[in-house]
Amino acid sequence: EALANIREYDGKIGAYLTLNEEGARAEASRLDAKLAKGEARGLLFGLPVGVKDNMVTEGLLTTCGSQFLKNYDPIYDATVVTKLKEAEAVTIGKLNMDEFAMGGSNENSSFHPVRNPWDVSRVPGGSSGGSAAAVAAGEAFFTLGSDTGGSIRQPASYCGVVGLKPTYGRVSRYGLVAFASSLDQIGPITKNVEDAAYVLQAIAGHDPKDSTSADVGVPDYLSALTGDISGLRIAVPKEYLDGVDPQVKASVMEALRALESLGAVWEEVSLPHTEYAVAAYYLLASSEASSNLSRFDGVRYGVRADHAGSLLDLYYDSRSQGFGPEVKRRIMLGTYALSSGYYDAYYLKAQKVRTLIKQDFDQTFANYDVIIGPTAPTTAFPLGSQVDDPLTMYLNDILTIPVSLAGVPAVSVPCGFAEGLPVGLQIIGKPFDESTILRVAHAFE
Ligand code: GLN
Repeated sequence: EALANIREYDGKIGAYLTLNEEGARAEASRLDAKLAKGEARGLLFGLPVGVKDNMVTEGLLTTCGSQFLKNYDPIYDATVVTKLKEAEAVTIGKLNMDEFAMGGSNENSSFHPVRNPWDVSRVPGGSSGGSAAAVAAGEAFFTLGSDTGGSIRQPASYCGVVGLKPTYGRVSRYGLVAFASSLDQIGPITKNVEDAAYVLQAIAGHDPKDSTSADVGVPDYLSALTGDISGLRIAVPKEYLDGVDPQVKASVMEALRALESLGAVWEEVSLPHTEYAVAAYYLLASSEASSNLSRFDGVRYGVRADHAGSLLDLYYDSRSQGFGPEVKRRIMLGTYALSSGYYDAYYLKAQKVRTLIKQDFDQTFANYDVIIGPTAPTTAFPLGSQVDDPLTMYLNDILTIPVSLAGVPAVSVPCGFAEGLPVGLQIIGKPFDESTILRVAHAFE
């Protein structure tokens, strides 16, 4: 069914970069045979999954949405991909994304943009736009995305699906092409909260191959979905309601009333350092990116420029030709912020601001179980409307970035429509307490 939907819709949507039809059919036959024999089944048995194209898949191209890696055929699987195989999900293809996960509209894919299934003149969000659009269009049962500053939650919000960014360290990053290593997290995009709990169960856990993956026990997420949220204490930051689209705000207020009717209580709070989050994020994420992307030199991975006269020319030409404009902008910004003489003024200061933002969350979580607000300030915007304005584009992530800087988990769950376009509710939890945000999202859904 997923393959039939891809054939029917993906010409318009553009969610997939590589299909694994033959491999998927072979795996499905193997699973069919197993079913016939009545053997034990994996947690995600037979479910067609699409994987964002920044997670390496052995023998299946992994482009990161970049011309630089258009021919990159990895020789190993990311840990999450291994875990999907162990759970017996069937990988049907690799999903389009903003180049190296830098962007919020999928228009930075160097292959082609993705379109929002609800209105194909609009963006699906990004950078995991392919992952969100594929679920919304029935082109996969579920998908994996990655989130550095909002890239799972914001596209899930724009496409009317569920997107979960786990706590930093909850899911292994081994085999995820690094953008900003202190922020990147992999998570599920699904049609509903129960599916998100299943997928998180399959992919979470400590991985000795990722030194930042946390050695913290993985609870049973499905048993958290009790439907009971009576007495739950919700904090609603006033900074998360200022300046958002009035219709988005109205949907969120309605969601809060629904949560109240289920027995939760909410209060307005302040997260006073919110206004500095976007500036701190773009310094830190770009700095880390400038370092991580130095490995793309034309020698080790992907495309190598022809006719370079010297080794330095080879680096220069390969990087000039291979990277798109947004990636170059970030490398230059990050290199500048890390250079001697500027390090203290920019990078170090941004690190200090990050700590203050984390403290805002710690203090709020001392008195509340979850923090709730909109996922994004608006609904999906028209393709092309922000491409020439990076600052406006960056500000789309104002509500997701603080969560990433603090490293805490958050889920975006659909909470209504504004002029026919989906609105997402963001439910933010304490570190490693994905169970509570899933419970709240499930009771609300
Ligand atoms: N839109 C943000 C950025 O461009 C977030 C991207 C992400 O989470 N990968 O950096």
